[in-house]
Amino acid sequence: MSWNSRIERHILQRRKDDQYRTRRATKTREGGRIILLQNGEQEARYLNFSSNDYLGLSHDLRLIHAWQEGARKYGVGSAGSGHITGYSEPLFELEERLADWLGYDAAIVYPSGFTANQAVIKLLIEQNDRIIADRLSHASLLEAAIYSPGRVHRFKHNDLTSLKSYLDRGNAALEKLETPENHGLLAVTEGVFSMDGDFAPLKKMESLCQEAGALFMVDDAHGIGVCGEGGRGSINLAQIKPDILVVTFGKAFGLSGAAVLVNEPLADYFVQFSRPLIYSTAIPPALAYTLKEAVDLIEKGDNLRNRLADNIAYYRQEMASLDLAQWNVTLVESTTAIQPLIIGESQRALEIAEKMQSQGIWVTAIRPPTVPPNSARLRITLTAKHQQEDIDALVAAFKEALGE
Ligand SMILES: *Cc1c(COP(=O)(O)O)cnc(C)c1O
Repeated sequence: MSWNSRIERHILQRRKDDQYRTRRATKTREGGRIILLQNGEQEARYLNFSSNDYLGLSHDLRLIHAWQEGARKYGVGSAGSGHITGYSEPLFELEERLADWLGYDAAIVYPSGFTANQAVIKLLIEQNDRIIADRLSHASLLEAAIYSPGRVHRFKHNDLTSLKSYLDRGNAALEKLETPENHGLLAVTEGVFSMDGDFAPLKKMESLCQEAGALFMVDDAHGIGVCGEGGRGSINLAQIKPDILVVTFGKAFGLSGAAVLVNEPLADYFVQFSRPLIYSTAIPPALAYTLKEAVDLIEKGDNLRNRLADNIAYYRQEMASLDLAQWNVTLVESTTAIQPLIIGESQRALEIAEKMQSQGIWVTAIRPPTVPPNSARLRITLTAKHQQEDIDALVAAFKEALGE
């Protein structure tokens, strides 16, 4: 086989499908409200409606200070796996703080949400186990599931009947095994879905899983910090306690990393057997120190959450005053910071995103395969840092871009 021709073929196909992706270096200003991109020789300035920095913490002065202090006290690198000498004091304290804050026995920190999700599935799933995941679950979950030795079923998005039917069928299949007691079901969903901004019906899902004896896992990447009492996320809002909770720090925390929250026996299982934990450098102590400060800010962050809620309400009110149907686009029913505008075709979504950009508004077109076919969209995200005038500019730009 010629590697070159295969690579070329895949890239060509990517272009043909209007799925070709590019990355551009950015700089930010005004606490992330503004992004600057290099456009040839010139630097272009945009209002940023594409970040996951829901509370604006990525540029928070208290966190910048904590980062500096953490680096000074503990260094910028952990210099090893947590199983050797990389388990720094601030990382230990962060895990204790997270467990306490979210009401679990233990938290295990990973360098990213992607790694954390993969680690959970790699650790738990053996042959003949079944993973039953919402079909819109994040790539990190679905990919790990597909490559696991277990069987994967994707239930209809947020559909309890579909979930129950897979749980029942899963249990029936386990019964037929020689040693059913050695095999199990793992149900997986997100608290807030990253591309639609909708909540999963967590309370009812938890009951179904309990009835079926399935482990229940919730990835709350987009809920943690943003909703629930003291920012404790979707599980607090729904008043549930899943067996496995994954929270990530790249969104509302404004930093990076992730944690898996579990009971004591599971935590021990992770420490004994989780290879991405054992064979990877522990997160920098300065980062752990800053994350701990971020938990404090988030817990006391009602003012930030209220500002975000005001921005969401204002945006929805302004968009509702437009006749979107005439342009054949739909505003998704979402009460969260994720406010997608469904365009349909990838090419049209790209064109509209470009028109928005030419008016100084940065919104990103999200296309299949990240989202289902024919549901290319502009994924608008609002943050606590946006001003009313920013949202006015966004809505005015939509009118212009869609009206042409
Ligand atoms: C962003 C995201 C992840 C990945 O987290 P990272 O820390 O960015 O690797 C996992 N799950 C969901 C739902 C996400 O949105």
